[in-house]
Amino acid sequence: MSHIHLLSPLLANQIAAGEVVERPASVVKELLENSLDAAAKRIDIDVEQGGIKLLRIRDDGCGISEKDLSLALARHATSKIHNLEDLEHVCSLGFRGEALASISSVSRLTLTSRTLNCEQAWQVSTEGQQMNCQIQPSAHPNGTTLEVRDLFFNTPARRKFLKTEKTEFDHIQEVIRRLSLAHFEVAFHLTHNGKTIFTLHPALDEIARARRVGIVCGSEFINQSTPISIEKEGLSLYGWVGFPTFSRSQADLQYFYVNGRMVRDKLVAHAIRQAYRDVLYNGRHPTFVLFLQLNPALVDVNVHPTKHEVRFREARLIHDFLYSSLHRALAEVRPQDHLTHTI
Ligand code: ADP
Ligand code: MG
Repeated sequence: MSHIHLLSPLLANQIAAGEVVERPASVVKELLENSLDAAAKRIDIDVEQGGIKLLRIRDDGCGISEKDLSLALARHATSKIHNLEDLEHVCSLGFRGEALASISSVSRLTLTSRTLNCEQAWQVSTEGQQMNCQIQPSAHPNGTTLEVRDLFFNTPARRKFLKTEKTEFDHIQEVIRRLSLAHFEVAFHLTHNGKTIFTLHPALDEIARARRVGIVCGSEFINQSTPISIEKEGLSLYGWVGFPTFSRSQADLQYFYVNGRMVRDKLVAHAIRQAYRDVLYNGRHPTFVLFLQLNPALVDVNVHPTKHEVRFREARLIHDFLYSSLHRALAEVRPQDHLTHTI
């Protein structure tokens, strides 16, 4: 008698969903990344009950054609890479073709989309178990709306791990903070239970960018930080570093991007800690929003898609550049600036 059998596609997707979809915030991350990959200029995010009841993400990106609509929900289906060579040079945020398949296997999902050159929008709906989806004509402006209802409705064990509405919403906001800082050119609008939480207009100049950082990270941060913009030997560092007096008890206001991707990296953390070493009290954490740009060939950002790790080819060079840039910026902040610097 045989004991081995193939898993049903639904069960295989639900198992894969365990890795991609941990909580509502992970759904928001995947859907926002898809909107950004679709070159959206405006993204609207509506959340109900911490995202447990509803997440709706609408964008004005390139849209999905009728022909591609059901394929978009299939596992390992992507428009972003075709072969191994593409994978090595991938610059989209997604490429594994897992997210929509995973999310649709653990929720009630509706996908509505219209491409630029199409007069008509099209819609598919799935309900966890029912992977066979009917495509219907619909009304929608150019772009895509993903509606995800009742997350984990068919996987009660997973649903039990969800925290309070407030905690889940806090996680969602953090995801949006990270992505909105990496995409100043894109407008974001967030509501929770029908109430506007924030509106971020496209930030195309220095003042508008500082304003966005103020909305996203708090006005206290932007008032108590110094802007930084340094270029040297093909490396550029741009952003804001918090005054040593504006330190935190937790490392919760630290945003570091490498070529537009948020990373958490030991080497980067070490260089920054060193720069603050003499000016920060023990046990306090510095605050910063920093963007490092360098030749993509010198950094591998695809070490792990969810873990924010990177690998620098010339680690020593990067470390020294970060350390010396920040050290100098902090040395230039005279003590009285801490009290008088406002925007
Ligand atoms: P991946 O992003 O890894 O390709 P996903 O499962 O997230 O996989 O999405 C599958 C495909 O659906 C994408 O490759 C893309 O072609 C399409 N897609 C998903 N969301 C959008 C969107 N908001 N706008 C346009 N196309 C989208
Ligand atoms: Mg994706």
